[in-house]
Amino acid sequence: MYAAGVSPPPRTRVEVAGRHLSVSNLDKVLYPARGTTKAAVIDYAVRIAPVMLPYLRRRPVTFVRWPDGVESHSFFEKNCPGHRPDWVEVARIPTGSQDAPIPFCLIEEPAALAWAANLAALELHVPMATVDDWLHPTGVVFDLDPGAPAGIADCARVALRIRDLLARLDLTAVAKTSGSKGLHVFVPLNSAIATSDDTRDFALALAGFLESREPDTVTANMRKELRTGRVFVDWSQNTGHKTTVCAYSLRGRPRPTVSTPVTWDEVSDAADSGDVAGLDFEYPTVLERVDAGDHFHAWLDVSQELPVFT
Ligand code: ATP
Ligand code: MN
Repeated sequence: MYAAGVSPPPRTRVEVAGRHLSVSNLDKVLYPARGTTKAAVIDYAVRIAPVMLPYLRRRPVTFVRWPDGVESHSFFEKNCPGHRPDWVEVARIPTGSQDAPIPFCLIEEPAALAWAANLAALELHVPMATVDDWLHPTGVVFDLDPGAPAGIADCARVALRIRDLLARLDLTAVAKTSGSKGLHVFVPLNSAIATSDDTRDFALALAGFLESREPDTVTANMRKELRTGRVFVDWSQNTGHKTTVCAYSLRGRPRPTVSTPVTWDEVSDAADSGDVAGLDFEYPTVLERVDAGDHFHAWLDVSQELPVFT
C-alpha cells in the first residue's frame, strides 16, 4: 500500500474508557493559527465526552473531516467508515425512496468520540430526531445567520426576541453559539407528537411574525440579498433529515472554536454591549465552562408541546 521508502503514518495504541484504539499522526497540526495538534483534538474529545455524548445519543452522525487540517480540504461523510472498530454502532437510515439506506455512525461512548477525533472529524452534525423515533424530532431549531454587516450581537438580539415570544407560548428555549458566525436557539419538545412538518411550520410562523414586526433587522426569506444587514431566521433547518452541528462540537474554522451552549444572561450581555468576544469560545475555555455546568441540559430534560393552532 505504501511506495518503497515511504513509511506508513506512525500509529499509537491508546486505551479510552476500556476500549483499545489505534490513533495516528498525533503531532499533526490541525489548526495552524493556534498550533492545535491532533493529540489536543483527541484529548478534547475524551474530556468533553461526559457532557457531549448525551447530545449525540441515538442520532445518526454526519462527519465533516479535515484530514490535513483546517487550512486544507474537507469533506462531508455520512456513511460510517467501513474500517470502524466493531464496537462503533451504525444505524441504517433511508434517505429517499430510490436510494439504499445509509449506514450512519452512532457515537455512544467516549472511545467512539476519540475515534472520530482521530479521523479529524472535527465537526459532528446531527438531525433533530433520534433513530428510535425518526418521525418525531425532539425539538425545534432556529438557526440565526447574520448577513454582514450584521453580526453575532445582532443574532443575540433576535435570539432574545425569539425567547420572549416562546415564553408567551409557555415554551422554554436554550441557546448555543454555532462556533462559526451565528447562534442556534433550540426548543426542547421530547413529547413525540410533532412531526418535522409541524416543527418547520411553527418555526416559519414565528420567523415570519418577527420579520413582519422588525423588517429592518430580521428576514425569514432564504434569499441571500435580503440578508444584508439583517439576521436570517432559518426555520428550514427543521425540515426532515437536515442536520445542525452538535452542541460541544469543534468547528473547522481558522481557530478551534466550539458550538458552545450559553446562558440567556450571556446572550443579553452580548446584545446590550455588542461585545462579540462574549460569544466566542475555543475548546480550552469550553472545558473550563463545563466544569461549572451544562447550559444546554434543558434540551434533554424538558418535555413540552407546541401550541395547537386550529
Ligand atoms: P453559521 O453560524 O456560520 O451559520 P452554522 O453551523 O449554523 O454556522 P449554516 O450554514 O447556517 O452553518 O448551516 C446550518 C447547519 O446545516 C450546519 O450546522 C450543518 O449541520 C448543516 N449544513 C450546512 N451546509 C451543509 C452541507 N453542505 N451539507 C450538509 N449539511 C450542511
Ligand atoms: Mn447558521
